[in-house]
Amino acid sequence: MSTPSKISPTTLAKLAKLGIHHRADLLLHLPLRYEDETHLTPIADAQLGMTVQVQGVITHSEVMFRPRRSLVCRLMEGHEELTLRFLNFYPSQQKQLAVGKQIRAIGEVRMGYFGLEMVHPKCRAADDDTPLQQSLTPIYPTTAGLAQPVLRKLINNALETIPLTDTLPAPLLKKLKLADFGDSLRLLHNPEADVSATELEEHNHAAWRRIKFDELLAQQLSMRVHHRERSKRIAPALPPHQKLTAALLKKLPFKLTSAQQKVWKEIAHDLALAHPMQRLLLGDVGSGKTIVAALAALQAIENGYQVAFMAPTEILAEQHYLKLSEWLVPLGITPVWLSGSLKKKDKTAAAERIATGDTLLAIGTHALFQASVEFNRLGLVIVDEQHKFGVQQRLELRNKGKTETNTLLPPSRGKAGMGVESLSTQASTPSLTLPDGTTSQSTKPASGQVAGYLHGGGNIHEPHQLMMSATPIPRTLAMSYYADLDVSVIDELPPGRTPIVTKLVSDARRDEVFERVRAACLAGRQAYWVCPLIEESDALEVELQNAIETHQQLTEALPELKVGLAHGRLPSAEKAAVMAAFKAGELHLLVATTVIEVGVDVPNASLMVIDHAERMGLAQLHQLRGRVGRGAAESMCVLLFMQPLSELARERLKVIYENTDGFVIAQQDLQLRGPGELLGARQSGVAMLRFADLTEDEDLLEQARLSADELLRNAPDVARAHLHRWMANKHDFLQV
Ligand code: ADP
Ligand code: MG
Repeated sequence: MSTPSKISPTTLAKLAKLGIHHRADLLLHLPLRYEDETHLTPIADAQLGMTVQVQGVITHSEVMFRPRRSLVCRLMEGHEELTLRFLNFYPSQQKQLAVGKQIRAIGEVRMGYFGLEMVHPKCRAADDDTPLQQSLTPIYPTTAGLAQPVLRKLINNALETIPLTDTLPAPLLKKLKLADFGDSLRLLHNPEADVSATELEEHNHAAWRRIKFDELLAQQLSMRVHHRERSKRIAPALPPHQKLTAALLKKLPFKLTSAQQKVWKEIAHDLALAHPMQRLLLGDVGSGKTIVAALAALQAIENGYQVAFMAPTEILAEQHYLKLSEWLVPLGITPVWLSGSLKKKDKTAAAERIATGDTLLAIGTHALFQASVEFNRLGLVIVDEQHKFGVQQRLELRNKGKTETNTLLPPSRGKAGMGVESLSTQASTPSLTLPDGTTSQSTKPASGQVAGYLHGGGNIHEPHQLMMSATPIPRTLAMSYYADLDVSVIDELPPGRTPIVTKLVSDARRDEVFERVRAACLAGRQAYWVCPLIEESDALEVELQNAIETHQQLTEALPELKVGLAHGRLPSAEKAAVMAAFKAGELHLLVATTVIEVGVDVPNASLMVIDHAERMGLAQLHQLRGRVGRGAAESMCVLLFMQPLSELARERLKVIYENTDGFVIAQQDLQLRGPGELLGARQSGVAMLRFADLTEDEDLLEQARLSADELLRNAPDVARAHLHRWMANKHDFLQV
């Protein structure tokens, strides 16, 4: 393979910005759109809205100052004329467009002051002998200072020099009616004049289908390989002894629902195996995941192993701490509490108890997994609302469990604190960052890793992981991003819940909502009033201000009620005190920012008002609504919205009004927002699919899934070659 002609360091830096680190990356840097310079359109035929290439003579060229400084030229062909307008221009352009010059211009035809015009057309000197382009001209995603022709040249060079042999066998391609890989790439980069630009741009063309299929297949393969590799890794076997777990079940004031029993059985079975469990426990808000987590914790504790129970916010972690203390202290298990806001002295004391193994259950925020906390015998990690955590935190967590006995971490994995970015750019070890934050070295594990395990004499293990989420995962996501996890679903709510009535109320009728709150509270119930999170740079200030003002407004409007306020800026002791007072029934109404979004459990609260509901996402609305309807009383959720509503906001409110099933809501959410946001990928840095679109390519995903299975079973070499092309093609450096 020939090395490319020297690329300057500046260009390399620009390419890196585009995610192009290796020559092979150029192949998959695909055009955003195309310009058609393969034929000329007579000016007479150029119509409004069309993007066309025309040719003619400049008959007029003038800098005008009204309505703003611009260069205005007339282009004439026969008797037909077209105006060309440039708002920013260089003297060189003025020269190029001087009267008498013959040029070709390509651009969209619009209506201007002087009839049809093109604004900022791309122009070049040309006469009748200038040849036309043979293929559509690709326009690539690029970055400032990296011109299209430079990118085009680099890409074409890569296309010519890198072998594009197909990784997939012909019978498979035939069966799935897929195009050849090399043909597809060549076509996408340089489509013939007669290929439909629309099909290309909308990613419907057969060439696009092939690329999308390949991408999905690689994803499926790596997930599958990762899943298999897990069965080679070692975890402590934690078989059920039915002592502590049975004791807890006996003391509970309720019976597990059959859905809870089913998932508990699945988890208990996994824990007993000597391979790390990686199970996602899905259950709608209020379905009772906490008790299942407590049982899992007890099974580990029964075996003398430690458990770390982590939640994304202090409030939620604290709820778990209180709930689990209530359940477990009578059984002789006293959890230790660890959060970032503890005083240094208390933190050190907690870390000490964790390190000595004095405590078997640690509950807290991700402070639990900071470098200064070392576990003695960590057997199980439980993560609540796992989608709220970024990849990095989950990565730290897995490493944490290992450091316990394994000081020989594989060289490619740092201790806690290593950034996700550094993983993905660590090109020397072909690695793939998976959505659960682990790194798959699927094709061949780095030798350091193997040595590390062996050196420990088989004594090295990692903890089991139980991840919980109330954000249901639509089928397509479950099939792709979570394909390496085992999933348990709690698909029924505990009995005795009355359905929640949802009302949509315009802010103009705010007073009526006040009355409703008054009536509910005077009848002995409690209510939440949620102020929205504001997604701007000064978000916290505005949000705080909002909450304080709303609190004041409600206190004045409802003098006979006791109204509390909880927001993200309160010191955690105060926040906890307000929550405790609300829980104890000492407050009628709790005004809160979305800090209560996850996990708050106050069965007597039966009314939820969500202010500015139009600003909130579907998952958030669903979670908030789930805070009520936990007791026997009829519950209501009032969504207060401000007019006018955007199209998206209207759509979202309609979905939440019409549906109560979290799975249906998540599916709609996926359609409205796309998978990136649903996964919280923005903060987590999950490598998203670049080409395939899970909302549109479900059929391809299904085919990729089946093919991945088949290839791994019957043609592992093909699977390896395919993974290599898509995931591990990282040794062909641009620089060398
Ligand atoms: P989530 O799944 O949202 O975390 P929780 O674990 O907080 O739900 O449970 C919600 C409420 O339901 C709690 O008050 C819990 O004690 C109660 N609960 C859980 N399981 C049952 C059950 N089988 N029967 C009755 N109540 C239950
Ligand atoms: Mg919960």
